[in-house]
Amino acid sequence: MSSAVRQVSVLGSTGSIGVSTLDVIGRHPEDFQVYALAAHRSVDAMLAQCEQFQPRYAVMADERAAEALRKGLAAGSVTEVLCGDAGLEQVVTAPEVDCVMAAIVGAAGLPSTLAAARAGKTLLLANKESLVMGGHLLMQAVRDSGARLLPIDSEHNAIFQCMPADSEARPQLKGVSKILLTASGGPFRNWTHAQMAEATPDQACAHPNWSMGRKISVDSASLMNKGLEFIEACWIFDVGPEQVDVIVHPQSIIHSMVQYVDGSVIAQLGNPDMRTPIAYGLAWPQRVDAGVAPLDLITTARLDFEAPDEQRFPCLRLARESVASGGTAMAICNAANEVAVEAFLDERIRFTDIPRVIESAMERVTSVEPTDLDVVETADREAREAAREAIGTLVS
Ligand code: NAD
Ligand code: MG
Repeated sequence: MSSAVRQVSVLGSTGSIGVSTLDVIGRHPEDFQVYALAAHRSVDAMLAQCEQFQPRYAVMADERAAEALRKGLAAGSVTEVLCGDAGLEQVVTAPEVDCVMAAIVGAAGLPSTLAAARAGKTLLLANKESLVMGGHLLMQAVRDSGARLLPIDSEHNAIFQCMPADSEARPQLKGVSKILLTASGGPFRNWTHAQMAEATPDQACAHPNWSMGRKISVDSASLMNKGLEFIEACWIFDVGPEQVDVIVHPQSIIHSMVQYVDGSVIAQLGNPDMRTPIAYGLAWPQRVDAGVAPLDLITTARLDFEAPDEQRFPCLRLARESVASGGTAMAICNAANEVAVEAFLDERIRFTDIPRVIESAMERVTSVEPTDLDVVETADREAREAAREAIGTLVS
């Protein structure tokens, strides 16, 4: 690829996106080097990654996990172990770092993502929740510091690839009329409400096309993932909600499209494998082998499309409503969803209770101007409390 080796910090390295990122990096040791790895508490997985990639730093979420990792690393290891938000901040802002893969799951990813943006890094953004929560702050930080935001979510990566060159802001000025955001429809695409009321966590996590972490898998089943992506698209591409259409495309071969005023529609296609958008982000503006099999259109044979059903999947409507409300409404929607998904995964509520919990939190917590991180984090906290109360009423 290029002459200089890119130094990468991978946040959320033990998760689905993190592991795929390390797979791509491992294929190109001459182009990319791991500067730091960060994870929550999975010490064994982190230990194996440290042994393979020899990062300068490894960050664990708390001191206990950090101590366990220090004990596990061989004496004389090149890796220094840090912990918590301060550790994350250090490894995303270090002057040696070129690229930060933001792949922590949920609102927990916001402070480090924001720190990478403020430090002017190339930000490979997988953690969509941080944008949904603090879109205003994050996009402002990107503009102020001159950071480069490259979307890793497959749809947004596709849209980025289909946009006119040099269209960082206001793509409508470059002849773009709409973003066509595709959705697989998830494992419950053809299920009735009654069937979904009995769905188990394992059924919700059995995505037909993608293998992902459990939280995003449940979001895909409820279509909240598409709701979060709808919000994400508005922020990243600087368009209004009326310029984003959601289209269900069950094969997940087209990863999204951009429609132009002259009638052209440009799509990005590929096998559903996150290593493609990850490799694109790592190597941008060049391309490298991602280890992904070439797309075989003859075997694919069909590409189908249908409209999403917001009656059976109210989460999509709730996300849309949060965009219309503006302010911290999106953070409230996101936080309530995280709490509801966790309760569903713990089998404390039904799958169909997820939108009920979110709607209740959105009704009870007032949206305000998201002037700084404190305001956003307060909204997040209040929404979590409201969601927990709603869950309490449901189960009592
Ligand atoms: P995952 O659950 O598989 O992995 C999450 C990672 O974050 C793990 O490494 C975990 O240790 C780490 N983590 C969790 N909480 C943390 C904390 N408080 N501090 C530090 N690290 C923490 O999740 P995933 O599927 O890899 O998704 C990661 C992010 O990427 C999510 O925001 C998701 O929406 C987004 N995303 C994922 C996919 C996919 O295909 N998996 C696609 C698009 C976007
Ligand atoms: Mg996606």
